[in-house]
Amino acid sequence: MLAYRGAERAAAEWDASIRHLNATMAGYEFVAVPYDLGGLRQAVAAGDVDFIITNPGHYVELEAAFHVARIATLETVGGPPPAAAIASAVVVLADSPLKDFSDLKGRRVAAVAAEAFGGFRLAWREMVAHDINPFQDLQELSFTGFPIERVTRAVADGSADAGIVRACLLEQMVAEGQARPGQFRVLGGRLSADLECEISTALYPDWPFARLPAIPAALAKRVGMALLAMPASSGQAWTVPVDYQEVHELFRALKIGPYDYLGRRSLAELARAYWPWLLAVVLVAAWWVAHVVRVEHLVRLRTDELRAAGERARRQREELEHGARLALLGEMVSSLAHEINQPLAAIHNYAGGCERRLAAGIDAEGVREGVRLIAGQAERAAGIVKRIRAFVRKRTPEQRPMPINDSVIETLNLFAAIAASRGVVVEPRLGESLPAVQADRIQIEQVILNLLQNAADAMAAVAVQRKLGIMTEMVGGMVQVAVSDTGIGLSEEARQHLFEPFFTTKPEGLGLGLSLSRSIIEAHGGRLWAEAAPGGGACFKFSLPALSEVLS
Ligand code: ADP
Repeated sequence: MLAYRGAERAAAEWDASIRHLNATMAGYEFVAVPYDLGGLRQAVAAGDVDFIITNPGHYVELEAAFHVARIATLETVGGPPPAAAIASAVVVLADSPLKDFSDLKGRRVAAVAAEAFGGFRLAWREMVAHDINPFQDLQELSFTGFPIERVTRAVADGSADAGIVRACLLEQMVAEGQARPGQFRVLGGRLSADLECEISTALYPDWPFARLPAIPAALAKRVGMALLAMPASSGQAWTVPVDYQEVHELFRALKIGPYDYLGRRSLAELARAYWPWLLAVVLVAAWWVAHVVRVEHLVRLRTDELRAAGERARRQREELEHGARLALLGEMVSSLAHEINQPLAAIHNYAGGCERRLAAGIDAEGVREGVRLIAGQAERAAGIVKRIRAFVRKRTPEQRPMPINDSVIETLNLFAAIAASRGVVVEPRLGESLPAVQADRIQIEQVILNLLQNAADAMAAVAVQRKLGIMTEMVGGMVQVAVSDTGIGLSEEARQHLFEPFFTTKPEGLGLGLSLSRSIIEAHGGRLWAEAAPGGGACFKFSLPALSEVLS
């Protein structure tokens, strides 16, 4: 049996019934074992008991979980009808400001236990009807445990504003002298004519007497009949089992016990209940995804644009450098024509000589010599053409380790014809065992040729001896090339604007040579600058980072 007022009281309470059963059922012995809610459930689960007496709520749960079956319902002699015998009272102090259920919001409420029937759940259903969720809307919900008097004690000492107890407990306590008359009041109380007590909730059926499924039907029938036959004089009576549907309704309303699955809401129900939040979350998530995708798209576009722009700029630079090389060469075309003419003229002479020898008779040795010379001159002409083609070819720059002197010598070869035609004396002083530089050969040659050309131009107008010095050496860890002339020198204006694009003082000048040269040298990690030459002319210098290796 469920001992809601302590083990001793339970034994006393059911003593009449137990004695009656023992008296009428020969061959059987009935022993009362008091349990609390959890203990009784365990005893039923383990089959430690054969019959149970418990409250209607607990019975409905055990019925669902363990198939216990009621065989009788308690009938209080001279009391309420068994189908409407149990209610709860919400107890407050007589002078409490609380008037009805809705006043419980934000208050401290004491109850027996979350699973207690009269001691909590009946009032819980009433609170739900008043739109109060006891687990959320109260300031405090405390469970005192059994015995149930702990609840009234909490109200009496002020640690709770209200207490939930089984109806009639208050009247019982007053009768037993455990409470002063007028000390407590029942919240929203109305006097039940059947109970002769004040109640705060609806009425539910009385306690059942039930059997475990293992009990044979015949025995259950005998026990049932014995209970029904219990004389009223014994102070306790049992009647045919009543309908516990109202208890099922309560459990369903609270979504607990056999109906707790109702409390576990499906996803669809959750979605229905929280759709504005869900919608907000989905919108925010969608916005975020869209934002990320957009940003990534923009970044990709921008990267592509930059890459395309970089590609375009590179191609333009190459075009420009190429054009500048063609322009440089343009000025040399006549000199180059002259240069190529020399081997051609020589070839012409040698061929004539060979012809004459052949006409004069067999001079095989002389003709062989002539042919050898012709081949040599042809090679020389081919060399000139090859050099020019290498210089003007359209190409993509490529940096490799190379000796700087190679570039200087190759450029001087290209420049030789023009120097000769201008009466310029070239004086090279090339450093020995210089470290190599990481450079694009044609670009460096273009820079040097540009400096040589400018030097020659600067000396065109002066009458003094036209001396062009070109020097390579190591200066401060860099390989340095210096081109000096004895020309007109640099004016203040020229000094300021030399390296700006389109600055030129020449009638046919483009003003691109020096600016291009500087960007080429800087792209190699070097520097290009101008100084005044000691002899009065200008001196242009550039330096490139030295590699550790020396290439010859
Ligand atoms: P361009 O040779 O087409 O004029 P550059 O950029 O090569 O273009 O040269 C720009 C200007 O710098 C020249 O027009 C000239 O005035 C000046 N300059 C360049 N080199 C020298 C030099 N060695 N001596 C004096 N002036 C120079």
